[in-house]
Amino acid sequence: MEHRLISKSSFIRGTQCPKSLWLNFNQPDERDETSDTQQHIFDTGHSVGYLAQQLFPGGIDASRGEPGQVAEAIAYTAELINSGETVIYEAAFSDGETLCYMDILVKEADGWAAYEVKASTHVKDYQVNDVAFQYYVITRSGLPLRRVSLVHLNNQYVRHGELDLHQLFTIESMTERILPMQAAIPGRLYPLLDMLKAGIMPEIAMGPQCGNPFPCDFIDFCEQSYPEDENTNEARPANRDQDELDEFLEELVYPLYYMDFEAIQFAIPMYDESRPYQQIPFQYSLHVQQTKEGPVEHHDYLGTPLADPRPEFIQSLLTRLGEHGSIIVWNQAFENTRLREIARDYPEYADRIDCLFERVADLMVPFRRKHLYTPDMNDSYSLKAVLPALVKDLSYSDLEIQEGGTASLIYESLYHDKDPEQVRLKRANLLEYCKMDTLSLVKILAML
Ligand code: SF4
Repeated sequence: MEHRLISKSSFIRGTQCPKSLWLNFNQPDERDETSDTQQHIFDTGHSVGYLAQQLFPGGIDASRGEPGQVAEAIAYTAELINSGETVIYEAAFSDGETLCYMDILVKEADGWAAYEVKASTHVKDYQVNDVAFQYYVITRSGLPLRRVSLVHLNNQYVRHGELDLHQLFTIESMTERILPMQAAIPGRLYPLLDMLKAGIMPEIAMGPQCGNPFPCDFIDFCEQSYPEDENTNEARPANRDQDELDEFLEELVYPLYYMDFEAIQFAIPMYDESRPYQQIPFQYSLHVQQTKEGPVEHHDYLGTPLADPRPEFIQSLLTRLGEHGSIIVWNQAFENTRLREIARDYPEYADRIDCLFERVADLMVPFRRKHLYTPDMNDSYSLKAVLPALVKDLSYSDLEIQEGGTASLIYESLYHDKDPEQVRLKRANLLEYCKMDTLSLVKILAML
């Protein structure tokens, strides 16, 4: 069998599930397609890594064009080190069995220091494993490291004007944590190498490892081999507790405002008064019903990506909501938290926002408490489970956008889209999707 190097991602993959590593080497075509959300996570990682290089400016990128040019990248890294270069990005190393890239390598006063960049806001266990493996490969390839650190985003950083990279990023030393892990690495690595050399796919049943720490990308392949037993879940019986439902309804005050927000997160804060990964509301939909039997009007707002949508969003929303009447949402934690954040970041609206909270009624609660339940809800109280179980003539399946994650990806794509027809279409789809969320609330409430 061809000799293959175990990279950091292979090591992490094999640690999660040896079968996944085997499949990745031998049957890569069986990998599930990368979802848009997954691709977005990869892209975010790349842009955060690129930005973090500027913490150590003036370095040279050792990567050689195509990802397959491993030998060239390793040779170029060695050449840069030998020629006295002191800052190297994407430095590549191998000890003949393993391979790794290090995001940033810096020659400091007392020796080489390595910095691995992560787009997360705190250190996760698997990231410590990553760095332990990198330290193992780099030192075995012959370069002594004085220290190794993780660079991650600081979610307490609030942008004001130009990005302040030294505030945006936090550098945490991992040296003390990863040194004691070194002795155990061969014991984890060699069984993986032996398995690959043996050329036989290991027999491993699906289990908790399939989603931890990452969703495995061979799930479709393995599910075909181990079809799920359809009769394992006993269906819960239907339930309707009209007294409890009436109690919920009696609390409501007309006019009713059915409200839903969509929000977007940026790893690197895009606007002033925002933090890494802060949820920025960019759209709302509002159905308004003045009286019980009266008609339902619709209003909405959708920002334009280049400007911070929050000031217009909140001005428009506060005007529409007036001062009286219940505000009906699904899962109040989301909408309430976004409102609190706007009050914190734009204190001029705080007093008016504060008055809204006592008007909020969470339509999810009767479903979470199973005061109304049908087996079609499949033990879920998400809007996407409750709606089709109760309202047969309304469905997300006819819409271009069917869930909130896609809505925020589409909104983000508007930042780059130059084609006016595409922009018009995407905006129409976003408005349609958010409108469906509040129309669903109108229809569900009517079923109580
Ligand atoms: S789906 Fe589960 S069992 Fe199959 S390769 Fe992935 S982690 Fe292993």
